[in-house]
Amino acid sequence: MVVVKTARELSKMKDACRISAEALRVAGEAVKPGVTTYEIDNIVRNYIEKQGASPSFLGYGGFPASACISVNNVVIHGIPSKKLVLKEGDIVSVDVGAYYRGFHGDNAFTFPCGKISADAQALLDATKESLNEGIKQALAGNRTGDIGSAVQKYAEARSYSVVREYVGHGVGAKLHEDPSVPNYGFAGHGVRLIPGMTVAIEPMVNQGSQSVRVLDDKWTVVTVDGKLSAHFEHTVAITPDGPRIMTLCD
Ligand code: MG
Repeated sequence: MVVVKTARELSKMKDACRISAEALRVAGEAVKPGVTTYEIDNIVRNYIEKQGASPSFLGYGGFPASACISVNNVVIHGIPSKKLVLKEGDIVSVDVGAYYRGFHGDNAFTFPCGKISADAQALLDATKESLNEGIKQALAGNRTGDIGSAVQKYAEARSYSVVREYVGHGVGAKLHEDPSVPNYGFAGHGVRLIPGMTVAIEPMVNQGSQSVRVLDDKWTVVTVDGKLSAHFEHTVAITPDGPRIMTLCD
């Protein structure tokens, strides 16, 4: 069931989204060679809790940490670890959600660790821009397929591939709500977007093939070919005046 929020609910949800965005910014500032993903997770958790919010992902479906931190060929759901020390040239996807006063915000960003290769930077740029292309289609009267199609076209035109097994989603009082928002599909198809809907749009774009698999820890999703993958996400509200990105810092 698709949940439509009132203007009052949207303004409450804005706080959760702002905290999520700021937690992500703080995480990004911590991405440096020599830092462990465990340390970054701690920084995220402390920041969110200091705001009187709680990390949406901690314990969600049994997930053991506050942030998903996915390095290089890890697509999503990487588990922070004391053993994973970041090194120069890594790309580090951080996915963070915060729950505050009844609502969740959800966002992700792939950060460069130190100096990265031109190929890696191009993947980051294209994935970020594919998210922007998707957001432009988050218009009342459009359908989820308009978003997915825009993301897919942008990524595939640059010879990248789009992950199929994991998709964006409605977000609000629950972290995952209807509808699903795939990063592929056909314009004019899917669920119709109406004002008051809030969706997490989150392209996962691979340098090589679209194929992914889950490691034995039951969480970590990696590319089958071992090539890089990037992930950018915003929580976006559908409004009569167009898409409103909720996960922005002050
Ligand atoms: Mg999400």
